[in-house]
Amino acid sequence: MAEPMPVPTPQPPLPDGPTYFPLFLSLEGERALVVGGGPEAVSKVAMLRRAGARVTIVADRLTEELEALAAAGAVEHHTGGGPGAAALLDGARLCVAAVEDEAVARIWREEARRRGVLFNAVDRTALCDFIVPAVIERGPVQIAVSTGGLSPALARDLRARIEAAIPAAYGALARFCGRWRRAVSEAVPKALRRRFWDAVLDGPEADAALAGDMAEADRRITARLAAGTNAATRRGSVSLVGAGPGDAELLTLRAARLVRRADVILYDSLVGRDVLSLARRDARLVDVGKRCGRHAMSQEAINRLLVEHARRGSHVVRLKGGDPFVFGRGGEELEWLRTEGVPVDVVPNITAALAVAARLGMPLTHRGVARSLHLVTGHRADGEEVELDWAASLGARRDATVAIYMGARTLPRLAERLAAAGLPPDTPAVAVENATRPDERTCRGTLSTIAAQVAASGFAGPTLVVVGRVAALAAEAGATATAAGAIRAA
Ligand code: SAH
Repeated sequence: MAEPMPVPTPQPPLPDGPTYFPLFLSLEGERALVVGGGPEAVSKVAMLRRAGARVTIVADRLTEELEALAAAGAVEHHTGGGPGAAALLDGARLCVAAVEDEAVARIWREEARRRGVLFNAVDRTALCDFIVPAVIERGPVQIAVSTGGLSPALARDLRARIEAAIPAAYGALARFCGRWRRAVSEAVPKALRRRFWDAVLDGPEADAALAGDMAEADRRITARLAAGTNAATRRGSVSLVGAGPGDAELLTLRAARLVRRADVILYDSLVGRDVLSLARRDARLVDVGKRCGRHAMSQEAINRLLVEHARRGSHVVRLKGGDPFVFGRGGEELEWLRTEGVPVDVVPNITAALAVAARLGMPLTHRGVARSLHLVTGHRADGEEVELDWAASLGARRDATVAIYMGARTLPRLAERLAAAGLPPDTPAVAVENATRPDERTCRGTLSTIAAQVAASGFAGPTLVVVGRVAALAAEAGATATAAGAIRAA
């Protein structure tokens, strides 16, 4: 019998390797030394020449391509690494060794170090002073990707994704911005400049430049500059933005863009860390920590803060879990900001009920099973008393799907009321805590069991309860775990 193949194992976790200092180096007219004349050297020589370097190659043999360059005088060529060869490093800015023999690479590294010349050995990260990133180019725009030498394949994968995401026309857009940079700096005070450029990049100027219509782009930016007092660039504003149920992948593109741009972000505790990590490093993040009736900051204080920051000219994002207009008090904030004359817009997102439906494969209005969907709350706006007026009217409707927000604590009374109003006790019900987050948990049961199940499972995070016949369609999803000790009803 054949010996079993040894199973390869990974190295133990690598220590965090060196963190490289990212820079784009000017090599215009500088001398660069390339040791080696094989295929590896070809791409390095090409990169160096494109950056304007004067390239000297040290190698006994050259590929045809390099031979042609040398013959044309585009590169200088020296044979052999004889005793005097190291002197070629004098006056060079950097040296790339593309050689098979590690010992040779090490000697060149020694010599380069002695002279303070930056050194790189192809595929030998440990010997390198600098590494060469994977680069995405859009005219003058260069995006460099590095994994710190850990995975060139991952760097290539990232490069491919970025290539796909950034239109080729960004080079034209960069040139357009470059041409206008000085005029804008002269016309727009420093404090307002970032906002001005954001508006340009988000406005008709960028659309025109990306479409290749430079004349139109010029006209538009001229008009914007002439407007001068243009309110949109001078006044702050507030966006009421839904952050979705938690998973950052469910964020809308618009929400992501606004979060990236924001000067100030006021966020609820329902908002996930992944989402917040999109913010600019210098953005001000304020946790106004509202959860289940516990208000870390009063609504009045939040309203005041929104207006204050906007009046200072900031772009403020008010970031809320789910959708801002579904039990998120977004309506009150909108009214207040309008009264105060602060420009405000609203960005919708996936509300908890829809997230839960998707996670459980539970269509909320499944044909022939449910004819209406009701989003209801288990507690009052002041968070104190229970107000379940809706229970009486919905209790009799067997074809309704009822999604209960903020109901975990009031569930026992709520279930009683629904039953008293005529909903059969065996109506399917499902409760999901932390839907779409890594710590998501699910309880399936019926109207008569669900309250006890939720209590036994100790659900403490945001929990949504769905009562109605569609709850029977909730899948025993692999991704959802039932808490240990929870009673599982069929
Ligand atoms: N605007 C939010 C709701 C805010 S009220 C939205 O549209 O989803 C807070 C309630 O929403 C919580 O008590 C809970 O019932 C529900 N909720 C919000 N996010 C949730 C999540 N990830 N999982 C389960 N329920 C959630």
